[in-house]
Amino acid sequence: MTDNNPAVPVNFIQNIITEDLKNNKNGGRVHTRFPPEPNGYLHIGHAKSICLNFGLALANAGLCNLRFDDTNPSKEEVEYVESIKADVRWLGFDWEDRLFYASDYFDKFYEYAVELIKAGKAYVCDLSPQEIREYRGTLTEPGKDSPYRTRTVEENLDLFERMRAGEFPDGSRVLRAKIDMASPNLNLRDPVLYRILRTTHHRTGDQWCIYPMYDFAHPISDALEGITHSICTLEFEDHRPLYDWVLDNINIDYAKDVKSRPQQIEFARLNLSYTVMSKRKLRELVEQQYVNGWDDPRMPTISGLRRRGYTPEAIRDFCERIGVAKRNSVVDIALLEHCVREDLNQRAPRVMAVLRPLRVIIDNYPEGQVEWLETDNNPENPSMGTRKIPFSRVIYIEQEDFMENPPKKFFRLAPGREIRLKSAYIIKCERVVKDEQTGKILELHCTYDPESKSGGVNSGRKVKGTSHWVSAAHALKAEVRLYDQLFQVENPDNEADGADFKAHLNPNSLERLTGCLVEPSLADAQPGNRYQFLRQGYFCVDPDSTKETLVFNRIVSLRDTWAKIQKTEKSG
Ligand code: ATP
Ligand code: MG
Repeated sequence: MTDNNPAVPVNFIQNIITEDLKNNKNGGRVHTRFPPEPNGYLHIGHAKSICLNFGLALANAGLCNLRFDDTNPSKEEVEYVESIKADVRWLGFDWEDRLFYASDYFDKFYEYAVELIKAGKAYVCDLSPQEIREYRGTLTEPGKDSPYRTRTVEENLDLFERMRAGEFPDGSRVLRAKIDMASPNLNLRDPVLYRILRTTHHRTGDQWCIYPMYDFAHPISDALEGITHSICTLEFEDHRPLYDWVLDNINIDYAKDVKSRPQQIEFARLNLSYTVMSKRKLRELVEQQYVNGWDDPRMPTISGLRRRGYTPEAIRDFCERIGVAKRNSVVDIALLEHCVREDLNQRAPRVMAVLRPLRVIIDNYPEGQVEWLETDNNPENPSMGTRKIPFSRVIYIEQEDFMENPPKKFFRLAPGREIRLKSAYIIKCERVVKDEQTGKILELHCTYDPESKSGGVNSGRKVKGTSHWVSAAHALKAEVRLYDQLFQVENPDNEADGADFKAHLNPNSLERLTGCLVEPSLADAQPGNRYQFLRQGYFCVDPDSTKETLVFNRIVSLRDTWAKIQKTEKSG
């Protein structure tokens, strides 16, 4: 992170580290890693893990590695590797020269497997995957020994070498640890360490046709890199005894000054309401074109959030606020949106954009006259200064800011009523022009009070509503994309309801408004620039934007449901 002075976080993992430092465990070193599998793009759940691993390293004068856990070869890995690196960097973290690949250790893994075989702690098993499952037993019944469990060391060495040499078909044999088929922990019932798999690997090509399992490769990778605290999600809690078994039964050649044993620590994964978080499911949405790619602004991926306009600061703030727990829970997506609003409220310039324009002609304003009126860039942050916006005889306001037959509480424009135009004049609606056939409102004719602008004798005159507007002759064309949650239900992953998660997709998650108009100060807006459109929310320029038509994504609306929830909770 760019922050030089990160506060020491408050969480149970930090407490473990603090204790370890006090006891000079690991020679006082703190070394973590973020170990993504390059089988998809990173999502907001990974951001939690990234912030935690890199954050703990920073807070404790330690180091954090980026390690690709690429022991499971699949096709698109190169694209995923590049996207993951870009996302970690964008979040503000730096692995410096410590970029690793588990595939760098393939030779080592093999040697350690041979070491286990020689010690009589691993054997080649010819049972089929189906038989292995049957022999494993259940939570209530012990497993049965494989008939191949008693093979001699020589036979195992020979078979394992020939597995590597490609003599046997995929799936015909595996290497298993010899631990305990009656262990109450199923992960210790002779787990598979290696399988035969003829798939080209993105880094090692066709050099290997046997690949190590995660539970074997991970502890060794951690140990080889001198990791001290190996932080992972709760579902690995039951794998910890195996993690320890592997390290206890091989002689790791630790780097000389790095004599330490990594410790696995589990924390609760992040779940967010109204979205799914598994890479497999996200990939399904991309491949079956329910969304427009991994960086679709509706996706919970880091690249989607980035394109949507979320800031790394807001995401880091969110990860800090949700904390680190030992129990799984679901975080309200409104909290993430709240963090974004809080950040942008201070930083985003405020501009005027009319999303659904209604033409207004100010009959008593001189034709051809243009006034450049001064307005604040951000009243929350005066250091952002002011700018000039053009005012002229024909303007556009928001369609919803006018009603022909308004109810009592409507404080916008209506026949005979007045509103103030933000940083400009008070106008009064004199006449409505409608399409004779359809009755559709085409334009309004208004008059303005020349003394009502800043500095005029009526500048303080009170009217109930203030509206945003743009000058017709100066406005720029824009497309605005409004987003709603990708899923209609809080928990689309709920398997209990029997429905496929895709059945819960929100058909109205994207609304494209073409024909929007924005003020001319946005002429040079670049993809990634963020603004508050007055009264409409926060918006970010999309990469689809062109000189002819600017394209904006709505990041969030202005309605802060999280702040509201907090308020009701306090008062209730
Ligand atoms: P997925 O189930 O989405 O595919 P994964 O756990 O298989 O996720 P990995 O690439 O293996 O994805 O994850 C890299 C790291 O990120 C792991 O340490 C993992 O525990 C962590 N991680 C993954 N998902 C979450 C989450 N939702 N919350 C917190 N950490 C997560
Ligand atoms: Mg995984």
